[in-house]
Amino acid sequence: MPEQYADLHLHTTCSDGLMRPEDIGALAAQAGIATIAITDHDTICGIDRAIAARGNSTAEVIPGVELSAVIDETEVHILGYFIDWHEATFTERMGQLRRGRLERAKKILLRLKELGVDLPLESVLEIAGEGVIGRPHIADGLIRGGFVSSYDEAFDRYIGQGAPAYIPKQLLHPAEAIRLISSVGGIPVLAHPGTLKEEGFIRQLILWGLKGIEAVHPVHTQRMIDYYKTLAKTHGLLYTGGSDFHGEGRRFNSIGKQKVPSQVVRDLKSLIQHNNG
Ligand code: AMP
Ligand code: FE
Ligand code: FE
Ligand code: ZN
Repeated sequence: MPEQYADLHLHTTCSDGLMRPEDIGALAAQAGIATIAITDHDTICGIDRAIAARGNSTAEVIPGVELSAVIDETEVHILGYFIDWHEATFTERMGQLRRGRLERAKKILLRLKELGVDLPLESVLEIAGEGVIGRPHIADGLIRGGFVSSYDEAFDRYIGQGAPAYIPKQLLHPAEAIRLISSVGGIPVLAHPGTLKEEGFIRQLILWGLKGIEAVHPVHTQRMIDYYKTLAKTHGLLYTGGSDFHGEGRRFNSIGKQKVPSQVVRDLKSLIQHNNG
């Protein structure tokens, strides 16, 4: 049997992706992917919908999430795989994060206004639609309002880290993100470690209960991929990977371009069984 592949990092319209959860399994299958993980930012709203839309020519769906955490002004994203996504305390926490994101978006818009950019909340909310609000929606609003000419310019000039209207999400601590995922039976994995400035920090995350490292990601060079795979192995962790797909016109827009062999999915499942056994 030919090797099968998994793309374990995908966003949908439930957060800042452009593809509906109902459609993403078929799109992935067309790209030659056998298994996907839905990993929306701070929400589980797409999981049931993606699973309900499963058919003969769609990819298998792993329930996942990507939690944003902040420590020392650095953003750390923690992926969670095979979470029990209906667990009440967990969904309540996701609701809090959603409300926190709305408050933060309002602060960003206020800051933009001080900079002479008058972007109404209503237009950003309209762009976000059902999605948990994020900076990509504000970026789209800036483009539509004619304040910038591209998505990248919106981040560089206004809302990216270090830019004048950047407001961090003062939300979870990475230890809490790891604990939250573990508490619903999920496997916590460090997303795109190549975006972190400080390498030694990974050791700290491991002490907090991290179980995997996302080695394969569009911001990683082949050297980094090899490095993080080795790092994972050295620490007895799993490695994972995916495209961080957000959709056409967004930053990471190629579903299945970054993928891992289905053995990685089997490894994740074994770890779950081990934890339950
Ligand atoms: P938020 O979760 O609201 O902070 O938004 C983070 C999302 O914005 C990321 O998941 C990316 O989709 C996107 N993003 C962050 N930084 C940049 C950047 N410099 N250029 C383009 N997109 C970015
Ligand atoms: Fe995103
Ligand atoms: Fe991320
Ligand atoms: Zn992501």
